[in-house]
Amino acid sequence: MALADAKAQPLTKRKLKLMICDDSNIIRRKIERELQLDNLEVIATAANGRLAVEAFRKEPADVVTMDITMPEMDGIECVENLVKIKPDVLILVISALSDKATAIEALKKGANGFLCKPFTDRQLTEALEELLRGANHVD
Ligand SMILES: [Mg+2]
Repeated sequence: MALADAKAQPLTKRKLKLMICDDSNIIRRKIERELQLDNLEVIATAANGRLAVEAFRKEPADVVTMDITMPEMDGIECVENLVKIKPDVLILVISALSDKATAIEALKKGANGFLCKPFTDRQLTEALEELLRGANHVD
């Protein structure tokens, strides 16, 4: 394919890079397993905000799922850092309902969506689709 063609390729055809950030191994695996969007590719998983920022510096993801309550660096501080590195990153906060005030804080810091724990595979897929639709990555 000529370079000009590659450049003209719409964003919808390109796989988007996803990072999963949650201190629960079970949740990280659940998100990875239940992900049903063909245009998302998991490039990193992180067990806390500090590790997520480190991974993001090496290879910035296009989309991030973000827990709030985590050791070392929580989701709020992590969102702030990721947005500084890549302002157009799409961040879906995935957190328990009891964290709602904190989740709103994360949205203020630059997160783009919110999904309550516990969630079904369908809810996860819909939340991610909505996130991508908002950014015009899907029709
Ligand atoms: Mg947590």
